[in-house]
Amino acid sequence: MEYQTYFERRLPAMLDLLTKLVMLESPSDNKRLVDRVVEFAADEASKRGAAIIHFPMQDVGDLALAKWNAEAPGKPILFLCHLDTVHPAGTLAGRPARLEDGRFYGAGALDMKAGAMLALEVISGLHERGELPPRPIWLLLTSDEEIGSLASEPVIEQVAREAGLVLTMEPAAPGEALKLARKGVGTYRIDIEGKAAHAGNEPEKGLNAIIEFAQQALRLNALNDLKRGTSVSVTQVTGGTASNVIPAHVTAMVDVRALTAQALSELHDAVMSAAPFIPGCHVKVTALHRRPPMEYNAQMQRDFAQVKAIGERLGITVRGESVGGGSDGSITAALGIPTLDGLGADGEGMHAVHENVLISSLPRRAALLAGILRDWVMD
Ligand SMILES: [Zn+2]
Repeated sequence: MEYQTYFERRLPAMLDLLTKLVMLESPSDNKRLVDRVVEFAADEASKRGAAIIHFPMQDVGDLALAKWNAEAPGKPILFLCHLDTVHPAGTLAGRPARLEDGRFYGAGALDMKAGAMLALEVISGLHERGELPPRPIWLLLTSDEEIGSLASEPVIEQVAREAGLVLTMEPAAPGEALKLARKGVGTYRIDIEGKAAHAGNEPEKGLNAIIEFAQQALRLNALNDLKRGTSVSVTQVTGGTASNVIPAHVTAMVDVRALTAQALSELHDAVMSAAPFIPGCHVKVTALHRRPPMEYNAQMQRDFAQVKAIGERLGITVRGESVGGGSDGSITAALGIPTLDGLGADGEGMHAVHENVLISSLPRRAALLAGILRDWVMD
């Protein structure tokens, strides 16, 4: 039986597992809850024949690595799935998971519990058919992607370095497109220190941190180059203490995005090199977090061509797109490891209350993944 037909028949089992994963709410900042869903998914992997390695974490949820065919020759194909979500605990009490109009609604369903479900169900399906390919297949379950993967990143790097292909199970771009390029992201905090003074009696004795900030903000804004895919956005600002006081402090946040590592590094230098406009004011820029871009380079073009060819043999047209947000796939792609991203479900409303999975996309996604596991030729 063809993969697509086969996975259409398995839909009830797929939706059942997705429901269980979604019911275990897992906001990134709640270690106990994220631990619980990672443990559940690791148990499901274990039931499907995997050996499990645990990575205990201090502040975020523990990570788990499931391995199938560990003794088989060749580099593993690695599924990369985060199980944390942006939705606070209790979201489901107000908005229970439900099926409606061919969609599965539920907090975190699309981003990306459906991705974890697909990985597990594809492996189950191939196992049941006696077609699990004789190559190592790994599934890494991570716990803090939605807050920047700071704790997971070293583990992701360590595990991915051994892999020959990384399948990032993030939601698809609209129309079941893969995500072939992701912008790199930099986050910065700007602290400006001026000098407070009475706005009525002696304003000349103050150094107005807000006026300094306004000029800094315009300088940053001028770095925008949207045609090159580069954006610099001042996104948050707080400052001042009272309406009659020359403000002494401003703190602001800046979000920087670029398509290439080169452009991101140039922007980094430009943002960091802030000199005060008002003599006597102090401007301090702190780089908080950086996620590299996933570049549409020669490696990505080769890998996309291969997945398209696999899709064609299964009667599936595979499209690709470029997106603005980062993912853990950006980390592995930046290491030079072949990475395909956006292999999860299609749907709508990532991070929003109406987040949902388009159910009809699931058998096609599962079929494509099964084809990749069976047919992928490593470089
Ligand atoms: Zn995600």
